[in-house]
Amino acid sequence: MSTKLMPSICPYCAVGCGLYLVVEKGKATGIEYMAEHPTNEGALCPKGNAVLEFLNHEERLKYPLKRIGEDFVRISWDEALDLAAGALARNKKKHGAKSLGFMVSSRCNNEEDYLMQKLARLLGSPNVDNCARLCHSPTVVGLGAVFGTGAMTNNLLDLQNSQCIFAIGTNFTEAHPIVSRWAQKAKDNGAVVIVADPRITSTSWMADIHLRIKPGSDIDLLRGMMKVIVDEGMIDQRFISERTEGFAELLANLSDVTLEKTAELTGVPAADIIKAARSYAKSPASALLYSMGITQHVCGTDNVKACATIALISGQIGRPGAGVMPMRGQNNVQGNCDMGGMAEFYPGYKKASDPKSLDFFKAAWKADDLPLGPGLTATEMTEAALEGRIKALYLIGEDPVICDANINKTRAALDKLDFLIVQEIFMTATAKMADLILPAAAWAEKDGSYTSMERRVQWIDQAVPAVGEAKEGLWIINEIGKRLGLDLSGTSAEDVLKEINRNVPQYGGMTKERISKIGGLRWPCPDEKHPGTDILHRERFSHPNGKANIASVVNRPPGEQTSEMYPLLLSTGRIVVHYNSGSMTRRSPSLLERDFELYVEINPKDAAELRVRQDDMVRVKTVRGETEARARVTEKVKPGMVFMPFHWQGTNIITSDALDPVSKIPEYKMAACRIEAMG
Ligand code: SF4
Repeated sequence: MSTKLMPSICPYCAVGCGLYLVVEKGKATGIEYMAEHPTNEGALCPKGNAVLEFLNHEERLKYPLKRIGEDFVRISWDEALDLAAGALARNKKKHGAKSLGFMVSSRCNNEEDYLMQKLARLLGSPNVDNCARLCHSPTVVGLGAVFGTGAMTNNLLDLQNSQCIFAIGTNFTEAHPIVSRWAQKAKDNGAVVIVADPRITSTSWMADIHLRIKPGSDIDLLRGMMKVIVDEGMIDQRFISERTEGFAELLANLSDVTLEKTAELTGVPAADIIKAARSYAKSPASALLYSMGITQHVCGTDNVKACATIALISGQIGRPGAGVMPMRGQNNVQGNCDMGGMAEFYPGYKKASDPKSLDFFKAAWKADDLPLGPGLTATEMTEAALEGRIKALYLIGEDPVICDANINKTRAALDKLDFLIVQEIFMTATAKMADLILPAAAWAEKDGSYTSMERRVQWIDQAVPAVGEAKEGLWIINEIGKRLGLDLSGTSAEDVLKEINRNVPQYGGMTKERISKIGGLRWPCPDEKHPGTDILHRERFSHPNGKANIASVVNRPPGEQTSEMYPLLLSTGRIVVHYNSGSMTRRSPSLLERDFELYVEINPKDAAELRVRQDDMVRVKTVRGETEARARVTEKVKPGMVFMPFHWQGTNIITSDALDPVSKIPEYKMAACRIEAMG
């Protein structure tokens, strides 16, 4: 058999970089760079270069496993599928359909995600959610409320047209490394780079203006900048009049803002606030980039709205180089949300609380009844399981036992379930708690489409067979559906894509043929003649009246404050060589050797007071528990603040599960802690 080059997409982050898999004798043996891919032009970050290390890893799950006491035993697929369907049917009969919860994976493709939420809703459960709840649910609802669409407005290539890049709450050079290529191109063309981040990061090294704000003061900073923009006449009056509503309310909202007060609240000198505001508002084209530093707060949705609003009043949106760009996390988190893998939305962002959405899908799916939403979010399902309201959970490609905030609570919740089904590629911390484990095909082992953070939908064909007896998600979901008496009509990914084309207007013209071309198409793409959309909101916003809603928000205090007992503020984030729960990157030798253990960054002043030296092991404690980490004594964090990456299980033992009341995202970025030297 000859060597083949199979076009593929990096399965890690939502940048959606293209690459080729070298396939020999049915096995992926190497990668080749895809120079013609528009987003990455052949470049890959360390994770993209290491994809085969997890794909071919000997610890891949190869057979269905069922729990017997503390052990797992290998079983047949027939037995596994009967068990899964039986557990769902039993709990539905005994406790009602709302006792069933479904977590749809943002690592799976659009077709699998679509079919999984269809299974859940046809079973009568509104409780469908995904990991966007933990990263960008404020983007979906916050940008949705302001612009009418909760997605990146421009695209990554377009960054090179920006003459000012304002990055707030994102360390994109580590979290989304290929983005920095486009930001650097803009900088090389003379763009001013503003970075608002309490830490010194590799992104802040790019900055012309680094606003080292106090953690949790993003809204204060944005309001201060907006006040400067208004007072100095830098608003885009025509844009505001013709394309927005709510400016008068914003003026009232800003009336009590002063630069002195903003400087005090944010810790940023007034002169820097003025400089940043002028650079952003006066530039011919400014892009605002943000990520989880903005979203993972109890005021995450308002943070997002404030980001959108500063863009509106400055007219920095709807043009090349000018837009609002949330940096999404997982490779298909955008697609998963588009496919209705969220408690609030049926596919295509049709509101789950609107009976008209139900009517549409009842007709589309030939269903007598469907559940009115919103269902329980991922974070609410944890609470519900603890209280005995969720009895069975079917979870695909998610690892809440590492990724949730306050994971001791998650463990307790999963322990209380009658039945936990985990569909995975590795024995994750969550899979270890399952009653039943279904081995799944990885991205290269199946057909399907993925949607990147820039709304780019790309199809890839199966490159290699699945390992062992692992199966494609579509097959597994269909087989469970059949055993429950449901015809999900989704036997092939191509068939499911055709159904998506019919039922998700943004994907109407995205046929397999069109999105198989390198670079795919960006949504909205309503019909087969439509070329896709590079920039949103050029002429009108997505609300029915075509106008954007300017938001008037004020900051709210974090869920917990530092105290004598817990005097330090803990923030968490991603590092370049690891990814989310680490289930894939911690199995990649080339990545693990670069960062192999949990660490905590602490300022030299705090370290000296605590008698902690570089590389000492320390205990980090919060009200929720404690964890051990190696100390990195560094000026990267300010006195009073510590930072830990979230790719190891220890971190989320101690993070805060206080929720944003709107998006229900936990406040990972603000936990009061103390550090104790060990022995
Ligand atoms: Fe993969 Fe993201 Fe790195 Fe690109 S930037 S290679 S998509 S992890």
